[in-house]
Amino acid sequence: MAHLAQPRFLDEPTARNISDQFGSPVYIYDQATLQANAAAVLNFPNAYGLTARYAMKAAPSAAILQLLNKAGLHIDASSGYEVRRAIAAGYAPGAISLSTQELPSDFAELYELGISINACSLNQLERFGRAFTGRSIGLRFNPGSGSGGNNRTNVGGPASSFGIWHEWIDQAQSIVDRYELSVSRIHTHIGSGSDPAVWQKISTMSLDLVRQFPTVTTLNLGGGYKVARMPNEIATDLQACGEPVAEKFREFAAETGREIHLEIEPGTYLLANAGALLSVVQDIVSTGPDGYEFLKLNTGMTEILRPSIYGAQHPIHLFTSAANPQMCDYMIAGHCCESGDILTPADGEPERLAPRRFPVAQIGDLCIIDGVGAYCAAMTTKHYNSYPEAAEVLLDLNNTARLIRKREAPEDLWSNEVPLP
Ligand SMILES: *Cc1c(COP(=O)(O)O)cnc(C)c1O
Repeated sequence: MAHLAQPRFLDEPTARNISDQFGSPVYIYDQATLQANAAAVLNFPNAYGLTARYAMKAAPSAAILQLLNKAGLHIDASSGYEVRRAIAAGYAPGAISLSTQELPSDFAELYELGISINACSLNQLERFGRAFTGRSIGLRFNPGSGSGGNNRTNVGGPASSFGIWHEWIDQAQSIVDRYELSVSRIHTHIGSGSDPAVWQKISTMSLDLVRQFPTVTTLNLGGGYKVARMPNEIATDLQACGEPVAEKFREFAAETGREIHLEIEPGTYLLANAGALLSVVQDIVSTGPDGYEFLKLNTGMTEILRPSIYGAQHPIHLFTSAANPQMCDYMIAGHCCESGDILTPADGEPERLAPRRFPVAQIGDLCIIDGVGAYCAAMTTKHYNSYPEAAEVLLDLNNTARLIRKREAPEDLWSNEVPLP
């Protein structure tokens, strides 16, 4: 595969400047892209009103939360800790919705602060009912099918543990009745993808759930909108996907008289292409004519794990110092003592190597990995091999880089340890 000519939003002088000023590895987020993506999400077609939430697990740094808060996005939190983190970054509790695999032990306190909660299992619903008889709750259902790329990213269907299985709706109803709860919201997040037909199917299935709960006023269709990191990938057209959804809501209103408010909650769509990772080629090794040429970066699964676990593809650019360089097929390796720390796996096959063609590189060349805004800084093998947490910067609208997370000091790594006397 040929390398792309240019990174998505970084030019070479800016990259060098950031590397000189902040060192590497460093994540770089682009404010202009973030704001444009937020505007596109808030423009999602809807029949009776829209609340758009940022699924903050994609990239939870305070500066990103502040930017998206200012842009008008509410929050989807995936743990009690994320709720606290969003509040610490300035979000009003009323703008935060919690859908979690682990209902936190302090959920009652968080609910009293004003957050909304989706019960994601019968046990969660039972616990909520015991604490808050007569109050308002959302229900997250697993409607029975999903559209994730593979078993690691699928979030619907019998192989997924997220949400209340749709066949247990009677059990959910009896818990609701027992505690006199008011179900105000139905939630389904099954990875809607980029196909308008799938969106239509998902909204039909979800509205069928809404039909069964007459007190529901809001339907949340979750996130999972595909983006094109690589040039051959297909991005979601939000207008094309949203129109048939709005139409289904209008049909539902005509049939039932109920005008349902829409919620969506993308993470990837907002962040993925708004972030890049800057690193340096720190070694070059060869395993001979029948082997590979490896470029070793000063980053790896400590900053970007997706290639290792999903075989995810990210654009990689080298700013080479040689004039008019020749091309060479390289494997790009991370800096961890772990054979899976590879940045150029085959597409969707993390165990197979797929060298890419680059200009001949030298030690010290800058390397930009694109499409790392979502699920990279937030989801890594941080601290493996005792590498400190990387810095994050925001490239503002004047193309000025501003530090939003300091590089971790080495001693912070072991600051919680209690050595033997
Ligand atoms: C992770 C998650 C999202 C966001 O998913 P993306 O693929 O990043 O858009 C939305 N809703 C829920 C409940 C999630 O767990």
